[in-house]
Amino acid sequence: CAKEKGKDICFFCPRMRAALHSKIEVAFELQQALPNQELALYYQPQVNIATGEVGGVEALMRWQHPKKGLILPGEFISIAEETDLIIPIGKWVIYEACRQNKEWREQGSYNGKISINISPKQFMQDDFVIYVQEVLARTKLDPSDIELEITESLYLEEGIYSKLEQLRQLGVQLSIDDFGTGYASFQYLKRCPVHAVKIAPQFVMNMDKEEPNKSIISLITALAEELQLQTIAEGVETKEQLSFLESLNCAYVQGYFFSPPLPPEELISFLKS
Ligand code: C2E
Ligand code: CA
Ligand code: CA
Repeated sequence: CAKEKGKDICFFCPRMRAALHSKIEVAFELQQALPNQELALYYQPQVNIATGEVGGVEALMRWQHPKKGLILPGEFISIAEETDLIIPIGKWVIYEACRQNKEWREQGSYNGKISINISPKQFMQDDFVIYVQEVLARTKLDPSDIELEITESLYLEEGIYSKLEQLRQLGVQLSIDDFGTGYASFQYLKRCPVHAVKIAPQFVMNMDKEEPNKSIISLITALAEELQLQTIAEGVETKEQLSFLESLNCAYVQGYFFSPPLPPEELISFLKS
């Protein structure tokens, strides 16, 4: 874009054209991904610092593209949100995570909880709570066996507190993902019936590279403790980062230091090792 006599003039340059073209292509292919069973959930362990036990796993979506190989969510989640494809895809994620949890319980291979990422658009659907209830009934899973990860951006939406309350009454666990990176105010945190806050990987991974990160992590853990919420720190890659989080009494840690997100069978091998 350029300025001329106070007006913005936008040129549609080849780079922009190519970006738009690739976005449309992804949106088109993503439409087929669900019926073609190209989407999968990987699972990343959440380790209890005090006991070393795996207390939960986070379900993270992957797209096994027939030609392009494994695609990470960073390349398609925002497009899924823009095109509303996140609604059917998000429903599939909830069902698949619950189905997998039930299967592992029946096999006796894992009996902890599974955390599921919920996009704001998905959460705001009128039938969201009913759908969660239906899936729990269909998979015969206890509501406390799942945790829904919501984002701070939800706080701008109307009617979220009653929805969160309904979920809490159902017995589902709730956490705020990437706490401290969005809009959440203290007021929001005070009113949200969540049981945990998650510290974003960028704070943890870069705690020694960027000055305020350690202070931000300390503040979040202190605030969580004050409000009697659990803290889950993501992006733990080194022993030093783990030690720092341990010194703050952070309850759970998640990161490559322990394990990357794994396909279901590899997660079970990891748990047995
Ligand atoms: P998130 O929910 O904050 O997930 C954490 C991200 O950090 C994951 O990226 C995970 O692989 C990555 N990570 C974990 N430990 C480490 C580490 O030690 N170092 C580094 N560098 N990274 C680490 P991933 O799997 O690429 O997912 C990216 C984002 O996509 C997620 O961020 C989440 O916002 C979104 N997402 C993933 N699956 C779903 C889903 O099923 N539904 C929705 N709505 N969003 C999803
Ligand atoms: Ca998450
Ligand atoms: Ca996160």
